[in-house]
Amino acid sequence: MSHSSIESVSREARVFAPQEEFARTARVPSRERYEEMYRRSLESPDEFWLEIAKDLHWFRAPTKGLDWSNAPHATWFADGTTNLAYNCLDRHLDGARRNKAAIIFEGEPGDQRTLTYQQLHREVCRFSNVLGKLGVTKGDRVAIYMGMVPEAAIAMLACARIGAVHTVIFGGFAAEAVRDRVNDAQAKVVITQDGAWRRGTVVPLKENVDRAIAETPTVKHTVVLKRTGNEVAMEAGRDHWWHDVLEAVPAKHEAPALDAEHPLFILYTSGTTGKPKGVLHTTGGYMVGAYATTQYVFDLKENDTYWCTADVGWVTGHSYIVYGPLANGATCLMYEGAPNHPDQDRVWSMIERYSVTIFYTAPTAIRAFVKWGDHHPMKHDLTSLRLLGTVGEPINPEAWMWYRKLIGGERCPIVDTWWQTETGAIMMSPLPGAIATKPGSCTLPFFGVAPKVLREDGTEAGPNEGGLLVIEKPWPSMMRTIWGDDARFAETYFSRFPGIYFTGDGARRDDDGFFWVMGRVDDVVNVSGHRLGTAEIESALVAHRSVAEAAVVGRPDAMKGQALVAFVTVKGGVQPTAELRAVLLDHVANEIGKFARPDDIRFTDMLPKTRSGKIMRRLLKELAGGGEVKGDMTTLEDLSVLAKLRADDE
Ligand code: ATP
Ligand code: MG
Repeated sequence: MSHSSIESVSREARVFAPQEEFARTARVPSRERYEEMYRRSLESPDEFWLEIAKDLHWFRAPTKGLDWSNAPHATWFADGTTNLAYNCLDRHLDGARRNKAAIIFEGEPGDQRTLTYQQLHREVCRFSNVLGKLGVTKGDRVAIYMGMVPEAAIAMLACARIGAVHTVIFGGFAAEAVRDRVNDAQAKVVITQDGAWRRGTVVPLKENVDRAIAETPTVKHTVVLKRTGNEVAMEAGRDHWWHDVLEAVPAKHEAPALDAEHPLFILYTSGTTGKPKGVLHTTGGYMVGAYATTQYVFDLKENDTYWCTADVGWVTGHSYIVYGPLANGATCLMYEGAPNHPDQDRVWSMIERYSVTIFYTAPTAIRAFVKWGDHHPMKHDLTSLRLLGTVGEPINPEAWMWYRKLIGGERCPIVDTWWQTETGAIMMSPLPGAIATKPGSCTLPFFGVAPKVLREDGTEAGPNEGGLLVIEKPWPSMMRTIWGDDARFAETYFSRFPGIYFTGDGARRDDDGFFWVMGRVDDVVNVSGHRLGTAEIESALVAHRSVAEAAVVGRPDAMKGQALVAFVTVKGGVQPTAELRAVLLDHVANEIGKFARPDDIRFTDMLPKTRSGKIMRRLLKELAGGGEVKGDMTTLEDLSVLAKLRADDE
């Protein structure tokens, strides 16, 4: 094996064929049909995507798809004009969807609210007029710093409607992160709340905004939704209550025709690998990508009750809470608070109470559910579910099996969706009626997506040989640039292999051509001449019945190049003893081989994670190496975790 590839040590061999009953009504009912559509999508991409685009409303229909003549800057549907909010709302008002629930909201305190398409349309029209009144015009940037409330979606849709560029800032970020993003995007208006509910306490969003915008010269106005009722300072002329400004505007608003390439939003990446990048997406291509993937990957049906647990502050919330589902006329459940408030069965109780049919969450959540214990889901009737999904990190096969059994009742297909903020929409995932699933594999590419695994020298890796995951052809929802830093865009994504999009992830293809994402290329460890991805070693640890979560990193070692250090969180009720440590070390040696046996296992209650819930191995790496932790920490969820890990070390 060439030393430039990543060695795969996974022995995962379980396969689950699509169930006949599911396939019978599925949009793509067989592997053959998938292959046929996939082939067509690569052979004649313009034709393929223009046909899908026809489902949607265009003020001027596009006549061409991709223009790649200015690579790495793609345009899609460039001669078309459309409006994404029109497609999410107005388009549905003529028929039976008019009075269908668009958003079913449950607040953390238990309050409930339903907005039909007609009602949501009305609110978005009013808020569009509010933005206009505050002087926001086409192309202006608007920052949205809110919790998970329907008004966050309303604000996003209103921006999209008038052609303002929104940048949603996750409500869990502190004032400094808000300030930096607002300044980077040069936002004119900030939309926020008095506070947001989180585990029964109030997160003071407006107070954070006040501190942030003391240092953001571009901000002229804020709009503040009253949610928690806590006291906030309102500066006359600058700060406006949502309910006040809404009252003063008409409910009619005509959606303007916008160019397909009109900028839609800027969204900062999670910051797992370093300083977040301000990813810019545009209107037409993103709309078509989000629309098509939602429909096919979730096999969406008219009467589904769809629940994506992501936050609107992340790309998953943009594409799969707001734009994709609403463009499809779906009913979305939206939940405001923490999954363990007031109890650790909140999520299962909601699935039961709303008869949720499609449930889309993240591996970090699934690992928490495993840790909290099986009795929570077992208390509830989850038989309404027909499809499960995951996104955000490689999922450990044992967590996948738990999800399948405890939540899916061994009945629901699981779509493991691989994609990035940069890709705008799902890139690889099983289509649930057509493609077999394997625990830990995102299986095969979506239509129009041409992924490859390359060696360092640009040649294609062989079966089961790990390498660098790239996407060879442009796709409609791809990012257009990094906001304000086009040079970084070209450098980060298109310089490793000129003209080809480099994802930053490592992957392998198995004998069936299925893709397995092996983690970040930056996280690959080099032990005694073996280059290993961290995900597989972590999965071996998580396969042990005592372990809930694990992160593996390398530290410099004179003999081996790097020695492995594993950070391990045990399941509820398990004691992290020296004996367990020895057992786990042997377990890895048995599962993978002696060379992969960690030099050290450190038990910890918590792993450092991004605010989107992803393990930050780069910080653990610095910690394990004994050095100072210096990397960008602005996206770290909980600073105290590092201090704790350091203290455990002494
Ligand atoms: P940053 O780019 O700032 O380091 P980030 O990459 O975590 O942050 P996101 O765009 O939120 O920001 O995450 C995309 C990444 O998440 C992918 O590159 C991949 O590493 C990981 N990922 C997402 N979904 C999956 C999945 N289904 N399987 C494996 N990995 C996944
Ligand atoms: Mg990334």
